[in-house]
Amino acid sequence: MSVSPKAQADTVTRRYLLVAGSSALAVAASAGARMGLARTPAPGSRESLPSKAKPAIGTFGFDVAGMDRSAAPGDDFVRYAVGKWIDTTEIPPDRSSWGSVAIIHRKTSARVRTLIEDVSKARAREGSDNRKIGDYFMSFMDTARIERLGSSPVMPELHAIAAIDSHAQLSAALGGSIRSDVDVLNLGVFYTPRIMSLWVAEDLDDATRYRPYLLQGGLGMPDREYFLGSSPHYATLRSQYVVHIANVLRLAGFTTPQERATRVMALETAIARVHVSVGDTIDVTKANTVWLRSELAAKAPGLDWTAFLTAAGLNDQPRFGAWQPSALAGISRLTASEPLQAWKDYLAFHTIENAAPFLSEAFADEHFAFNGHAVSGTPQQQERWKRGVDHTSDALGQAIGKLYVRKYFPPAAKAQAQGMADNVLKAFAARLDRLDWMGTETKAHAKKKLANFRVMVGYPDRWRDYSGLEIVRGDAYGNWARAGLFEYRRNLAKLGRPVDRSEWFMTPQTVNALFAPSQNSVTLPAAILAPSFFDPNADAAVNYGALGQGLGHEVTHGFDDNGALFDANGNLRNWWTRADMDHFKAEAKRLADQYSAYEPLPGLHIDGEQTSTENIADLGGLATAWDAYRLSLQGRPAPVIEGFTPQQRFFLGFAQNYRAVFRPAALRRQIVTDVLTPAPYRALTVRNLDAWYSAFDVRPGQKLYLPPARRVKIW
Ligand SMILES: [Zn+2]
Repeated sequence: MSVSPKAQADTVTRRYLLVAGSSALAVAASAGARMGLARTPAPGSRESLPSKAKPAIGTFGFDVAGMDRSAAPGDDFVRYAVGKWIDTTEIPPDRSSWGSVAIIHRKTSARVRTLIEDVSKARAREGSDNRKIGDYFMSFMDTARIERLGSSPVMPELHAIAAIDSHAQLSAALGGSIRSDVDVLNLGVFYTPRIMSLWVAEDLDDATRYRPYLLQGGLGMPDREYFLGSSPHYATLRSQYVVHIANVLRLAGFTTPQERATRVMALETAIARVHVSVGDTIDVTKANTVWLRSELAAKAPGLDWTAFLTAAGLNDQPRFGAWQPSALAGISRLTASEPLQAWKDYLAFHTIENAAPFLSEAFADEHFAFNGHAVSGTPQQQERWKRGVDHTSDALGQAIGKLYVRKYFPPAAKAQAQGMADNVLKAFAARLDRLDWMGTETKAHAKKKLANFRVMVGYPDRWRDYSGLEIVRGDAYGNWARAGLFEYRRNLAKLGRPVDRSEWFMTPQTVNALFAPSQNSVTLPAAILAPSFFDPNADAAVNYGALGQGLGHEVTHGFDDNGALFDANGNLRNWWTRADMDHFKAEAKRLADQYSAYEPLPGLHIDGEQTSTENIADLGGLATAWDAYRLSLQGRPAPVIEGFTPQQRFFLGFAQNYRAVFRPAALRRQIVTDVLTPAPYRALTVRNLDAWYSAFDVRPGQKLYLPPARRVKIW
């Protein structure tokens, strides 16, 4: 899954075409709404996707009862589209937010649980994928054994850390701890609690080969702002974090936990100071730095690089991508300048913290109390089976995906979604032709790039091979640790081989979607093809407003301020004329200003620059989906249904797909750390479309009204 360990606590989907991450849409999710769920089948029911049943939301694809028709669409469109749903929705106690993606995620989790439990009972052949799935899940659910083991599963690692007595040994321990747990461009995941992360992806200058990128990491809170920000909110969290570190060390039997916690906090604060911001991390033009192996000691002095890289299995690599050069150099410097004991305490704390969800209840509860409750505001930890489903999906995602699509994703659903994708691509091509601001030269490149696009629907053509992953019944922690190492080695093994353009970065049961800029491909997993994104029985206007917009969102990522930097072959190369790029940037700036004016929490505005890429994709996606819907009609008139015109249903389908409610801490976290605008504000994209004004008769003087000259049109 694309979910970072911090996000897992909340089951956040990153970038979905619709939701979160990088290019895909990202959504901080959660579910449980009474209105939204009233018509959905009970969890665990075995209905398959396309059925003759009524659409799951509302009578023709959206939730009429969740609207507040006393609101004027032109004054408060979100209120009009989903007001009663907001009023009547309670965020489930184990969630920090709730909305469309979370609702689908809950249903998908219940399905996946049934699949996992069925294969556990069947006790498949030793060594088979099904046996591994069952053993992984049942080991996590075996709480009696986990309680008996206490902290013993991590003791060998803690002893090894305690024995470190030189800088070279520290460097080796740090190198041995890194994993492949980030994916900046495809999934929009760039947080890792480990000191650095290895991301193996296309070389930015030559998309036919892989480059090993090193990225900053090492913080136990979500971002540098949490360590350095001046608001009282962060100050409180900082004191809670020190207490948490001490608690974790005390549970594992460390002496003087308070002193150690103080040292760890001081070290992490120093690391936070050398980190670069989210905005700089996602700016690909700042990320294309190559450091030769032979230059590392000079470019980033401090670490014993030979010891570090040898332990990481990277010492034979001739060149590295330094994604955030100043941060990597800063971290390297700190390994030499800060006391060895502080680093040993730091490594011990993070080893236990990473392991905590797989250790006894005292560890898991302490982990949740800080990461889930204090940081994200979630009152209650998820039920154990839900955590088990997520962890098993992280470890064996494609093996589970194979079972999932066999049962829940019939060929007809795949064909229908593929047909919508074709219309979206056609509509976008026509929009490119009509653009009056883009010169013929740039346009020709854009058309060439679009012709190279691929939309991958449902599941991969070739499934991942898990034969090298050892799963041991009864070893919950060991299974998690080996799965992380297996994934790391799978990525190491890519180095030196040709790029696999059929690779899936998400599992079929992921409720999300993504655009891969180096591959010019859009991935649409089977699980996202469910209401409120898509319902094979729903009115087409609603399907295009929801899933169609999501598809258009992903396609325009190929042409947004990030995607525009990649050419038709997926290389980082500027194919724009100066004048066209200037126009694009000026329009992007106008859109950023529009979003920066929104203030979801008192004093905390949306960062229009940080969310620019995703907002541009939302805008282009919505405009393109509207055209694609009209294409799908093939000249036939569309009916009025229950008093709503096709235009109205299209925009309501869109807005309802972005309904969400947040706990304040979770909303703050998303605003500060995420590249996605929080879901309800994404619905306000409509203000830039002329068709929305005519659909709802929006007039000057109304709160959301923008005069035509202030409506931003990019694609
Ligand atoms: Zn996106």
